[in-house]
Amino acid sequence: MEIKRIAPDIGVSSQLAPQDIGAAAAQGYKTIIINRPDGESDDQPDHAAIQKAAMAQGLRVKYLPVVAGKMTDADVSAFAAAMRGSPAPALAYCRTGTRSATLWALSQAGHLSADAILGAAADAGYDLSALRPKLEGSAVAVQRSGRSKTYDIVIVGGGAAGIATASSILKRRKTVNIAIIEPRTEHYYQPGWTLVGGGVFKRENTQRQMARVMPRGVHWIRAACAAFAPQDNKVILEDGERIAYKTLVVAPGLKLAWDKIDGLRDTLGKNGVTSNYLFDMAPYTWELVQSLKGGKALFTQPPMPIKCAGAPQKAMYLSCDAWRRSGALQNIDVSFHNAGGVLFGVSDYVPALTRYVERYGVNLNFNENLVAVDGPSRKATFEVSHEGGETKYIERDFDMLHVCPPQTAPDFIAESPLANDAGWVDVDPETLQHVKYGNVFSVGDANSAPNAKTAAAVRKQAPVVAVNILRTLEGEPPHAVYNGYGSCPLTVERGRVVLAEFAYGGKLDPTFPSWFLKGTEPTWKGWFAKANLMPWLYFDLMLKGREWLAKPKILPHRPVAHAAAPAISEGKGPAKAA
Ligand code: FAD
Repeated sequence: MEIKRIAPDIGVSSQLAPQDIGAAAAQGYKTIIINRPDGESDDQPDHAAIQKAAMAQGLRVKYLPVVAGKMTDADVSAFAAAMRGSPAPALAYCRTGTRSATLWALSQAGHLSADAILGAAADAGYDLSALRPKLEGSAVAVQRSGRSKTYDIVIVGGGAAGIATASSILKRRKTVNIAIIEPRTEHYYQPGWTLVGGGVFKRENTQRQMARVMPRGVHWIRAACAAFAPQDNKVILEDGERIAYKTLVVAPGLKLAWDKIDGLRDTLGKNGVTSNYLFDMAPYTWELVQSLKGGKALFTQPPMPIKCAGAPQKAMYLSCDAWRRSGALQNIDVSFHNAGGVLFGVSDYVPALTRYVERYGVNLNFNENLVAVDGPSRKATFEVSHEGGETKYIERDFDMLHVCPPQTAPDFIAESPLANDAGWVDVDPETLQHVKYGNVFSVGDANSAPNAKTAAAVRKQAPVVAVNILRTLEGEPPHAVYNGYGSCPLTVERGRVVLAEFAYGGKLDPTFPSWFLKGTEPTWKGWFAKANLMPWLYFDLMLKGREWLAKPKILPHRPVAHAAAPAISEGKGPAKAA
């Protein structure tokens, strides 16, 4: 959190946490204006938590949520009224601060010159030049303004998929101009969080500055994408600015839907409730594992799809292994509650996993979906479905609860013209090209391809899209294909991993010959790969476009399944399915 003073009576900031309010009060702020709607992202404290912290410091709070990309004149008026009616100075925040800065800028139109407003915003680090027509009273609406440049390739999301794809493209052609739209200043190596929760990695090892992983030559637009206008070849940012592209890669990952479980958000990080699915929370898993000497430990898995389908049970095995080593396991009643009906989706790996379940004495419960958590009284409620469609609810006590949250497509994807019925970016599973808009591709967790949602899948998808998108820019149909590869290193104990690697249809797709590494069995080589090789493979190879063992398969004469060479010039509209 960095507070930027724009004018004497107003400062803006990216997302605040309750513990930041003290610093805001110390800087003299008297009012907090919250412009970010609750539930916009998975790691966001809701407005009630901020309000509580602010009131404890004697600050006034106004909750004026503005949906990204959909700012209205009424929002601007409400912001101006809040500033007039509240003690100054006020500190306004949203995800990055851009929406708040935009609201302030528009609320000043007619009072200050456009140059003064834009200059003040720029001094605070916000480039609001797209607002100039509106600020100057032009009839052109904010929503119609934007940067005049059309990028060859716009990438939405600077996670594993966005960065790897940009690097793979640049490796093939340095001259394309690429913009990556990404609001975060940190990039996370999420596969490392399992090892943070298992006490093997430090949380800091899984985080890098976003600026460090951005490929050289890429234009980083530090903003969040709010919507898509594929018929105009444009994406819309949260402040309403439109960015034009010739081709688009959609890679914003997925949404962790914490709010689908009643009471969970309030108790996450306390009362023995944890999750390796958050950077901030994974160390708490290890804290709980170390302190638990007896009682009940529950591990949950929601309905598919989720990212890294093995992660919920990996957390359990590493916890059990630590308890076995400390002697506590015999006093801990461990159970796994899976909304699905099998331990792992690819049956070849189940025998090895079952042996560990037996070794640790884990109670397996299938078709049990966590629906509510009462942290203070340490009770978890599960919806249990039985054959014949009968459903009942079971309440269980716990001393430790590791939750894998339900997962969905991000809202701005699900509500867009790019989504399929389930909300994911609707792509051809082999070429990863959008089924309707031929100049749109998607990589990573956000797409509809039925692979295991993993960084390992991204490693193979990114080169495929790099090849196909460059072909699209040349007016040629895609010809690189992805086989559905995904991988899940199941950390069954400290020092051993069952290295699951498979492609579409659950077909085993091992990287190494079985005489060297047998993926269906626990091996120390698998552990060595997970703990030592994979972080290097991720940061130093995949994110840099070095496609070790990930060269895309090229079909000599691929029949054109969906889109032929799309119309990519601005104003011509998207390619239609052939
Ligand atoms: P992400 O890496 O999540 O990146 C998405 C990016 O998009 C983020 O930077 C985000 O800020 C940005 N974004 C979001 N909204 C917007 C917006 N509106 N506008 C612009 N940008 C936006 N994979 C493995 O291969 N092996 C493992 O062992 C493994 N273990 C895992 C364990 C855990 C606990 C977790 C949580 C994940 C694990 N994964 C594993 C899965 C892997 O991390 C993901 O599949 C991978 O990160 C997906 O990449 P992505 O780029 O699609 O999404």
